[in-house]
Amino acid sequence: MTTTKVVLRFPPDLTDQPVTYNLIKEYDLMVNILRGHIIPKEEGMLVLEVTGKKKQLQRGMDYLAKIGVETQKLSKDIRWLKDLCTHCTACTSLCPTHALSVERDTMLVSFEKAECIACEMCVTVCPYSAMEVQF
Ligand code: SF4
Ligand code: SF4
Repeated sequence: MTTTKVVLRFPPDLTDQPVTYNLIKEYDLMVNILRGHIIPKEEGMLVLEVTGKKKQLQRGMDYLAKIGVETQKLSKDIRWLKDLCTHCTACTSLCPTHALSVERDTMLVSFEKAECIACEMCVTVCPYSAMEVQF
């Protein structure tokens, strides 16, 4: 058995498809949804932990590619270095899952790790190196 963490990006026409159900039912995989961000009729993202036989895993990934779901292995994590953050908010409008958000009253930024899909956009944009990739 092999376990892998993978980020799935759905185009708008696939956000209401039973993709995880098919991975379980048709490809005999165990699927654990770690994080998700899906807005019907808009783009969606899911982070899945998928376990199964190597061959079945490959078949499942091939199925996703065939129907137009982009996949990317998740082998890293993102850390917010709070002490370095100046709450400049440069990252908050770019974060696709709103893992980084700003409290309007206080203008303080916070990081909700459970929502993060490790897309690294914040790492690229942060001028103070307050977002870090951990491998
Ligand atoms: S890596 Fe940064 S921008 Fe991407 S989801 Fe996580 S917090 Fe948001
Ligand atoms: S861009 Fe960097 S410094 Fe600015 S709010 Fe985001 S994490 Fe903090």
